[in-house]
Amino acid sequence: MKYLITLLVILVSLLTTAQELNEKMHELIKAERRSAHKRMQFKASQNTDNYDIKYLRLEWTVDPASDPASISGKVTTYWEVVAPMNTITFDLADNMNVSQVMQRGDNLAYTHNGDELIVTLPAIQGTGVLDSMTITYRGEPVSTGFVSFVQETHNGIPVMWTLSEPYGAMDWWPCKQDLTDKADSIDIFVTHPQFYDTQEYKTASNGVLVSETVNGSAKTTHWKHGYPIPAYLIAIAVTNYSVYHEYAYEGTDSEFPIINYVYPENLSDAQNKTPITSYIMEIFGELFEMYPYADEKYGHAELNWGGGMEHTTMSFVESFDRFLIAHELAHQWFGDKITCGSWEDIWLNEGFATYLEALTTEHIDGNDAFIAWRINTVFDITAESAGSVRCTNTTDVSRIFDWRLSYQKGAMVLHMLRYKLGDDDFFAAIKNYLSDPKLAFGYARTIDLQSHFEAQSGIELDDFLADWYMGEGYPSYWLQWSQDGDDAYFLINQSQSHSSVSFFEMPLPIRVNGSDGQSQWLRLENTENGQVFVENVSFPIISVEFDPEYELISRNNTITTGVKEIRIEHLSIYPNPSDDIISIEVENTNDAMIEIYSFNGKLVLNKEVHSKVERINLSGLSEGVYVVMVKQSDTVYVGKVAVR
Ligand SMILES: [Zn+2]
Repeated sequence: MKYLITLLVILVSLLTTAQELNEKMHELIKAERRSAHKRMQFKASQNTDNYDIKYLRLEWTVDPASDPASISGKVTTYWEVVAPMNTITFDLADNMNVSQVMQRGDNLAYTHNGDELIVTLPAIQGTGVLDSMTITYRGEPVSTGFVSFVQETHNGIPVMWTLSEPYGAMDWWPCKQDLTDKADSIDIFVTHPQFYDTQEYKTASNGVLVSETVNGSAKTTHWKHGYPIPAYLIAIAVTNYSVYHEYAYEGTDSEFPIINYVYPENLSDAQNKTPITSYIMEIFGELFEMYPYADEKYGHAELNWGGGMEHTTMSFVESFDRFLIAHELAHQWFGDKITCGSWEDIWLNEGFATYLEALTTEHIDGNDAFIAWRINTVFDITAESAGSVRCTNTTDVSRIFDWRLSYQKGAMVLHMLRYKLGDDDFFAAIKNYLSDPKLAFGYARTIDLQSHFEAQSGIELDDFLADWYMGEGYPSYWLQWSQDGDDAYFLINQSQSHSSVSFFEMPLPIRVNGSDGQSQWLRLENTENGQVFVENVSFPIISVEFDPEYELISRNNTITTGVKEIRIEHLSIYPNPSDDIISIEVENTNDAMIEIYSFNGKLVLNKEVHSKVERINLSGLSEGVYVVMVKQSDTVYVGKVAVR
């Protein structure tokens, strides 16, 4: 999913000052929260865990012109019993009215209790039993979350569409909404008036178009989807669509259709913009794997809502902006084929979709544009000092879809993994993830992605994910450098914007430049504060750049030089560890300063040096390891002391 706030931020940021941008952002976020408010306290029902959905036959009757907006339907659910049960529970908003629950010609008793429909089965069903029933209902759905069930107009013509992510399916049909169970396949039948005035309605939905049947003044469209699908990715849209076909892998054995349902008034605009879809499809196919639903179709259906939603095989979009096309297409692999196993892991959907937008930039616009994307993204992420990629409140729709954290930071964390592991292992691991039979067409948690990155690279990622998925904030680096012949010295200290991370262990990209246009990349494996690196650089360095291409999330970095030599062994500190007075031996007291830094890079003590053995009282410091530096104009001596 990608919503208006994203697009507006880009537009707004081009047009206004940072101050105005902040104010506009706040208005937008407030508006988003208001719309999300109704279902902010949603908790997935625990009472649907005892069955596994096998198949859904969804028969809906709608009229885009009806006032108020309404739906009537028959939902037939086939299930397999997971734990013995004598009732079966569905999620259904309390304002929807069930008129009948039928099984093999018999009416079943039911209660509609709050947002749960509980049907009493004729007998207890044991594990493994296969059964089905049909629920008949009607109602005037009240949209929650983003916009779960909508009727509006475009160019004076009525249009209706659904958009259920994350908790809105139950607003308009009896379903199992929890992220634990996909229906293995579905049939969708949508009946509506054939015409509005002289305009003929068409229905867009998931899967393959089987038939469009006219019966008197009504028209029924049958779509069939043969892949596992969760409730929130099932959707319908009805209006006087103009429909046109494009093809991916056109003229090859892999060819399949891309079907566009667009408003007639926007037809030529759409036809100008959608052809990029097949090109992006092939980029993703090359980087990852073939589009997962190639034997059905891909498609777009236009809607009014500001943004897009990756309904399986038929993304709903408000425009044909290239980034939106790329984002929703990316979700067909990341979100639809493999769905986040909890809304806590929403970055497995949104971080990937956002990163794949950026990969589209890398492949179509080139590396400089890709770097520009990273600069903007890091700038946005670090505009605030806190916040984790992990969604910490899954009942809050605006937190699940937090643009800065679930989308931008999620995408940059993927990019940092790419830098850390290298392109070969990074892309190979993602291919393995997508094709893992335990995950494909099912659900994944963050640990599943981690396992694939670790198995492919041999690199343990617990610390990385503790810092960058669970942890909040970002590092700020202080890099000091000097050169002596071919030896370049780097002293690196780091502080953190948030106390949840004590140290970000990262490889650091450093570029050193010489006066004759030479330049050399270094990769310094930074694992602790006060770390010193000696690197071979054969030309005189005139400048040093810290992560100039924004491979990492960081901000407020400082680079200083003028240090002739950095020695780590020379500084003698005793007793060590200590709990009060330490002595520091200083060879040359001339203009020397002692500075002591906590392990997270904060200066905790500094004083001038007056004697060759300086005594310092550390009893006021909390337990931990501290970095001690003795600085002169051309030399820095470094050591560590442990305080008990
Ligand atoms: Zn998205």
